Amino acid sequence: MNFEISDEQRLMRDSLRAFLTRECPIDYVRECDEAERFPAELYEKLAAAGWLGLPIPEEYGGMGGSCTDLVVFLEEFARHFEAGANLYYTTVVIAADALTHFASEEQKRELLPKLASGQLRFALSLSEPGSGSDAASLRTRAVLEGDEWIINGQKMFCSAAQVADYILLMARSDAEAPKHKGITMFLLPTDTPGVEIRRLKKLGLKPMDLNEIFLTDVRLPKDAIIGEANKGWTNVLKTLDYERCCLSGVNVGAAQCVLEQSLSYTDQREQFGQKINSFQLTRAKLADMDMEIEAARLLVYRSASLVDRGIPNNKESAMANLYSSETYVRAALNGMRMMGGWGYLMEYDMQRHFRDSKLAEIGGGTSEILRIIISRELTK
Ligand SMILES: Cc1cc2nc3c(=O)[nH]c(=O)nc-3n(C[C@H](O)[C@H](O)[C@H](O)COP(=O)(O)OP(=O)(O)OC[C@H]3O[C@@H](n4cnc5c(N)ncnc54)[C@H](O)[C@@H]3O)c2cc1C
Repeated sequence: MNFEISDEQRLMRDSLRAFLTRECPIDYVRECDEAERFPAELYEKLAAAGWLGLPIPEEYGGMGGSCTDLVVFLEEFARHFEAGANLYYTTVVIAADALTHFASEEQKRELLPKLASGQLRFALSLSEPGSGSDAASLRTRAVLEGDEWIINGQKMFCSAAQVADYILLMARSDAEAPKHKGITMFLLPTDTPGVEIRRLKKLGLKPMDLNEIFLTDVRLPKDAIIGEANKGWTNVLKTLDYERCCLSGVNVGAAQCVLEQSLSYTDQREQFGQKINSFQLTRAKLADMDMEIEAARLLVYRSASLVDRGIPNNKESAMANLYSSETYVRAALNGMRMMGGWGYLMEYDMQRHFRDSKLAEIGGGTSEILRIIISRELTK
């Protein structure tokens, strides 16, 4: 049993840390949050440094990194800039993974090198106004007419669609089949006529846009699909554990950032003639935060290690996601408490974690859905 990351992973993390300390200082994070803008400069620099190719197989222009490599990377990225790590996740984890596993050889050769070099960005659109947790009940309809698909419907909650070149769009391609069996993943260029992307206002993760998408008689060529027609749902399920595991790495890194900010603040602030980190109630909060982050990290690394060894890890990735997201939310809440009224001010960074952390309990499946997955594995 080995609880440590490898020397190579440590080197990679140190090199990323140096890169982000230089290219992604806290003022840049604050500026992107306040302006609610995509960190284009950072994304370009990540691409130039080769980081966008981390999980992509070498034959398609990437580094061929493992899931554990990716988790170590995402943890460090989120420790500096959580929204940036989420944006990276959308294209480099979700899209690259779907393309690597299900796209045709021609699509892979065309798309993956461009994704790795930063020329192309992607978003995934599964949710709809009427289907969230029950995502397979989606109603957006794709009908094959001759050599073209005609797509009509409305999608909801699509992250990063404003800055994407393509949307991986999930739509119902067989209305007669059982709900899980008639869904296809489409490769939709965002500039296709009939596609309207409208930005939604939201609480946190401001640099990552969130959108609803209206699709009116959208025409796509017959072969603009990823994987086989009507197999989209089965394929999405196959990669979900890997994606949940990676998302958990983001949660751990962001929670670690909260801990570091809490340590720093409580070491400076004085009340009743002493530093507030000398009060036992404050120290207990710091101790709990550290312990929970460490436990979450171990769950994430174990889940990644199972992914890398090809061992089923549905329960373990759900646990990692659930525990790390709730750890991050609790850490942000306690971080706010430890800062008293100062934490409530926009000029401090804790309020950003307070706002950003909530998505962690929704994004990779809500806490309720993750508990259902874990309990299902326990009782089957
Ligand atoms: C900022 C943000 C970014 C997102 N990005 C994307 C994206 O890029 N692409 C995408 O496709 N989607 C995205 N989503 C959508 C996200 O995946 C859904 O919000 C999530 O799956 C929950 O669906 P819902 O919001 O419709 O809630 P609902 O499914 O309506 O759930 C409402 C409540 O009911 C509970 N509930 C539902 N079913 C059960 C059950 N069986 N048992 C017990 N409780 C239950 C839920 O846990 C929740 O508490 C994003 C959402 C947000 C907020």
